[in-house]
Amino acid sequence: MPSPKKPSKPTASLTTLRERLGELDDLTQAASLAGWDEQTYMPPGGAAGRGEVLATLGRLAHARLTDPGLATLLDGLQQTPDLQETDARIVAAVDRDADRARRVPDRLVGDIARHTAAAQVAWHEARAADDFGPFQAALAHHVELRQELAGCFPEAAHPYDALLHAFEPDLTTERVQTVFAQLRDGLVPLIQEIAARPAPPTLPGPFPVDRQRDLALEIARAQGFEDEHWRLDLAVHPFAQSLGLADIRVTARYDERTLTGLFAVMHEVGHGLYERQTDPALARTTVGTGVSLGIHESQSRLWENLVGRSEAFWTHWHPRLLEAFGARALGGDDLPAFLRAINTVRPSPIRVEADEATYSLHVILRFELEVALMEGTLAVADLPAAWNAKTKELLGLDVASDKVGVLQDIHWAYGELGYFPTYAIGNIVAAQLWTVIRRELPTLDEDLARGDTTALREWLREHVHRHGRLFTPSELLMNITGSELDAQPFLDQLRAKYGALYGLG
Ligand code: ZN
Repeated sequence: MPSPKKPSKPTASLTTLRERLGELDDLTQAASLAGWDEQTYMPPGGAAGRGEVLATLGRLAHARLTDPGLATLLDGLQQTPDLQETDARIVAAVDRDADRARRVPDRLVGDIARHTAAAQVAWHEARAADDFGPFQAALAHHVELRQELAGCFPEAAHPYDALLHAFEPDLTTERVQTVFAQLRDGLVPLIQEIAARPAPPTLPGPFPVDRQRDLALEIARAQGFEDEHWRLDLAVHPFAQSLGLADIRVTARYDERTLTGLFAVMHEVGHGLYERQTDPALARTTVGTGVSLGIHESQSRLWENLVGRSEAFWTHWHPRLLEAFGARALGGDDLPAFLRAINTVRPSPIRVEADEATYSLHVILRFELEVALMEGTLAVADLPAAWNAKTKELLGLDVASDKVGVLQDIHWAYGELGYFPTYAIGNIVAAQLWTVIRRELPTLDEDLARGDTTALREWLREHVHRHGRLFTPSELLMNITGSELDAQPFLDQLRAKYGALYGLG
């Protein structure tokens, strides 16, 4: 047996690993910067050239991740008995990334990239014609390519697992089906009960865009936005992007008819805080970022919905809102009426316009259709009819046409099957975390009513953000809540909130 203590060898290997990961992370950040610019300041004529830049950066990163030298280094480190726990977790996480990248042949990666460009053209054409027909063949080929991708992971229990794992590394299709069934069984009757009550009056507006921008920045700063490390810019589709841990970009879009832009900023700052509060020791490792899209979405939904639609939060901010827009735009100066207006629940056919309660049903609809497409039990030609039938079943609505039905989201144009579940997982995880937060921060409501988010932000740093990708999503959730993914806290919280707002039994 060799001596268990051989510090010099792992130290040298770790230094080499850190150098390799540093370069890999730099490539990812360069791509992030090019992508952020594409969606904010790039003139439209730059699109073709930018596509080439992004493709090259993606190829370089893929080559480095699948490099045999990296595999040898990781193998050696995994057999080193005296690695510190953090180093061992970095090695394990990078090994999983490299394994996944090696399993998919370069030829298939190229086919998917090329087809994605063609499919987007077909999707835009179909949208313009308000007819699924022109997109059908393109989507069918996307599904074939994804079935081929699933074939690269023959050990998976379900062909959809391989798609899910691109976004939720350790969640199975079976688990999502169980949790979504629980979610659907709780949401459908709750939404029907609410729909039987009169809808609260909507906020009359208008809300001038320049004042929304000022207020959004004030709220962002109260959440933790620091001028030294963050930017807030405009984009057609709001998003958050980190360029390392010290440079966080969030974007917004405002509409003077509604306050949705304000809620979207709270949402994106929630994403940004996750990146910003990662342990600096994980910088330039590829592990210093959010662990999955679902956990990321839990952070944004927590700020947007659990904080941002609460009485405590608006106890502090409602007077400021009145000052900015006047009581007439807000339909009066009554805080309870305002809270009812921002917590309205009404089924609508469009996912991105959905409220906090009906939103997850839109996700379940897409998830069930994607699983059926991957299993081969639903033909792409039958997708519009299946979409319309499920909309009736889950939301009680008729779909007027494909544009507001099966063609409403761009995700399938990109072939991004497996992505939609992460939105509902975000709602579910946020509620699971919130249960623990409320127990551990008994003065949270008083803090928020004073406009003070420090304790909440620090709790999130300590329990969620600082870990980056050191734990898998399920490990992280189990460590914090003692539970696996579970929709019950989300359902309980919705029932408590809407029960009070709508006077339900
Ligand atoms: Zn989000």
